Order: sequence, then C-alpha cells, then structure tokens
Amino acid sequence: FGAFSDIPLGAADPILGLNEAFKQSTSPEKVNVGVGAYRDEEGKPHKLDCVREAQRRILERDLDLEYTGIAGIPEFVSHAIAFAYGNDSPVLREDRVAAVQSLSGTGALRVASEFIARFRGAGTPIYVPNKTWGNHIPIAENAGLSVKRYRYYSEGTCGLDFEGLVEDLRAMPEQSVVLLHACAHNPTGVDPTEEQWDQVLAVVQERDHTVLFDSAYQGFASGDADADAFAIRLFAAAGVDMLLCQSFAKNFGLYGERVGALSVVCQSPEEVEHVLSQLKLVIRPMYSSPPISGARIVTEVLGDAALRAKWYAECKGMATRISAARVRLREEVERLGTDRDWSHITSQIGMFCFTGLTPEQCDRMVSDHAVFMTRDGRISMAGVTQANAPRIAAALHDVTC
Ligand code: PMP
Repeated sequence: FGAFSDIPLGAADPILGLNEAFKQSTSPEKVNVGVGAYRDEEGKPHKLDCVREAQRRILERDLDLEYTGIAGIPEFVSHAIAFAYGNDSPVLREDRVAAVQSLSGTGALRVASEFIARFRGAGTPIYVPNKTWGNHIPIAENAGLSVKRYRYYSEGTCGLDFEGLVEDLRAMPEQSVVLLHACAHNPTGVDPTEEQWDQVLAVVQERDHTVLFDSAYQGFASGDADADAFAIRLFAAAGVDMLLCQSFAKNFGLYGERVGALSVVCQSPEEVEHVLSQLKLVIRPMYSSPPISGARIVTEVLGDAALRAKWYAECKGMATRISAARVRLREEVERLGTDRDWSHITSQIGMFCFTGLTPEQCDRMVSDHAVFMTRDGRISMAGVTQANAPRIAAALHDVTC
C-alpha cells in the first residue's frame, strides 16, 4: 500500500466525460452538442479573424515573456471593464471599480467566491438560480460559501419563472449575495427582459443585496456586446454593490487562453485601493499571476478601432449563425409533427437550448442516435448546423414521441 492507495475514484465531469464518449463513438453521423464551444457551419472550432490578426501583430513585436503583475496586464484590465460597464459608465468615470485579470470566467468566479468568504465570513450563503451552470456550485463551495437556490426556470413553460424569482429575491435575508447571469443564461437560454431586469433591480435595491454577475457570453446573446451588457450597466449605474466575473472564452473564441476579469464596484477610489489590495492577497498564493498571451490578444483587438469593428462583426456573425440554427432545428422538428411545443427552441437565446428532455430521453439521444448531449436536457446550439439539424430533429422527435 502506498500513500495514495486509499484514494477513491472521483466522479467524471459530466460535460468533459461526454466529450470522451463522443471521441470514442464510431457512429459516422455522431454529433456533439454537449460542450458549450462555438462551432462553424462545418462543425469545426472557429478562430476569429480579428484574433488571428492580433496574434500576427503581437508576434511581430517580439515582446518579452516576463511575469505580469498579480492583477494582470493593466491595459487589458482597463479594456475589459470598459467593454462590460461601457465607456461612459459613471462607475468608471469616478474610478470606483477595482479590477484584476483572471483565469477566464472560472478563475474570476473562484477568486470572487474566495473574496466573499474572506470578508463576509465562511459559510456565507450565495444564492444561485435554479438552474445554473453546474460548476457554480463547487466553485462557491470550495471557497467555503454555502450554496442556496432561488427560483428561475419554469419547467412548465421552458421560460422564466419571473414571479418565483422576485418572490425569492424578496424572501432572502437583507444583504444576501445573489449570483445573476448577466445574459444568455446557461443552461436554460432564458433571460429576463429589460423591463423584468428593472424589476429585479428594484427588489435587489429594496433588500440591499450584493450581486455577483457572471458574464460569460457578452455579445453572444444578441450579437451586440453593448445590448448584452444591459443588466450590468443598469445595476452599476443604480449603485448596487456588485462584483462582475467576465470571460472572453466564447465571445472572442479564446477558450484555452484562459482570459477573463474580475471587478468589484466600490463606493470610492479609496475603497478601490483596499479591495484591490485584498484581491491580490487572494490571488498571490493561489496562482501568483495570470497568463499574458490571451490578454494581449484582447488588448490588441479592443485597443485598435479596425480590429474592434471586425470583432463586433464577427461576434454578430456567430450569434446570427446560432439564431439561424435555432430556426432550422425548430422547423425540422415541427415538420415531423408531434403535438409537443418546440417554440422554446427559438425563444431561448445564447449558446444553449434547454429542451425539457428527461434524463432517460437524453440517454437515448446518445445511445440510439449518437447525438451527444448532457443529461439535463441541454443542447449546445453552437454544435447545430444546417447540415445536421434534420438528424438532431429526428432524434428529438424519436425520443419524445
Ligand atoms: N459561467 C458560465 C455561465 C459559463 O457557461 C462558463 C463556461 N461554460 C463560465 C462561467 C466559465 O468559462 P471559462 O472559465 O471558460 O471562461
């Protein structure tokens, strides 16, 4: 027996495990709609032209590969927060945002959770929507927070349970920490409307809650990064105590580069200094400093008018392709003629479609049709193309009729 002999086998990650099963499948028609990564019309990973051009320019400059500071590349951080809060944001004008570069969205969430646990106390509840991105729960728990849920998704309508959401926000103790998806809710594809966001804001203010925004899809929901920042900008302008976790994985196609940002909206520049010093104390023993390559790419794209314009166009292109795939998938499945309502395929937005399939039906999608999807009924629309939509539709029809 060695020192590690008693260690039990850990559970495989449901999404990454699915990728493995997909790779091993010998079905010639297999489709991967599990992982939330954008694919082009041929089903291939997609590199943005603006990113390619930025990489070329950066390589030409032959920059050094020294460590960046604990908080990352300052220019990147400035661009990242302007991208989210808007160039004319009052909180930026007043220097009230403490921000650091992060290891993509996950890293931002992890540091934010650690920061909350440190200053609100271990065991502090964090309220997450029911449903939410699976990783939110262990990220918060590993930092010592206690995860609670508020109502969000209605199984009955495959839409938002707005009354439940507002009731639960009201019923939480005052000054609770509430995680909100900024846009393109994962896994449900269901977001509040602008009017509903106004009402959510009113309750958050009434109860003096602190909001942790998770923004992993800015630009992906509507194709317009400014429109997708609606909730973030609304809450920031209203003076809500908030933290924001940004990921540049999906919208810039920089998944493996691990580029993101964490920001905290403070009351004053002095408070910013304090918060920033504490964020650095969380980060330094965790991973010391973030990687530089992806942050340089985003800086180059957002800092150059032509590349920035190109990015807006390319992001819109990705969102448009996904919308077209939604329309096609719905048409195809409706054509097969069940009486089931499939309108949610086109009413939901962002990268995912929450089909309402049971876990057993999802299993049959995989085993009988080689359509690889997670057991929660989520389909990544990014994996749906004009070419494979009929096959996926036929599988959906078969397992539900
Ligand atoms: N939040 C949500 C809601 C997500 O869907 C994701 C990616 N699946 C992330 C955060 C973080 O992703 P990453 O760490 O790759 O930026």
